[in-house]
Amino acid sequence: MPKVTDDGGAVMTTDATGTATHASSDSLLLDLVNSRLVFDDHVDDELGTDADASAWLVAHGGTGDADEIADARAVRPLLARFLRGRASIADLEPWTAAITRRPAFGPDGARWRDDLAPGRRVGARAVLEWADLQGPEGSRIRPCAASDCQHFFIDTSRANTRRWHSMETCGNRAKARRHSARAKIG
Ligand SMILES: [Zn+2]
Repeated sequence: MPKVTDDGGAVMTTDATGTATHASSDSLLLDLVNSRLVFDDHVDDELGTDADASAWLVAHGGTGDADEIADARAVRPLLARFLRGRASIADLEPWTAAITRRPAFGPDGARWRDDLAPGRRVGARAVLEWADLQGPEGSRIRPCAASDCQHFFIDTSRANTRRWHSMETCGNRAKARRHSARAKIG
């Protein structure tokens, strides 16, 4: 699989089958659930080695220590299943329970800060991000609608109706399939 890296690590590239390789967003949650891709002959895992995992965590605002590495690896499969509707928020209890919101009182009222239990910070941050992505239009973080695609995406459109993690790859493949179906009918 061709993999192109740039100095920022923020370029999304695709191979011939339209499977996108890793990209960095500003979302820990999104990058975490997109950090492991399973192919026929190999697994592409950004947290695969401790060195890779540590660098990944530092790039996402962490310390990259052993606790964080273990936490990220533990929460990732649960988050992916949860976002696919195959696990409930209760399955994320070790991380939801790791969040304590405390007020700091001052002349202008109370400011709230989140205390995240040591050893659960990565998963807790991801869960808080998930909560911020829920709204009247539903969840803004979803799996790509292509059945053979493993990616998740965050929908920033007003109507929240995006279906593909990438229009260039999965969206265009779906369009081509619809076109060929119509051609057969005609
Ligand atoms: Zn996709």
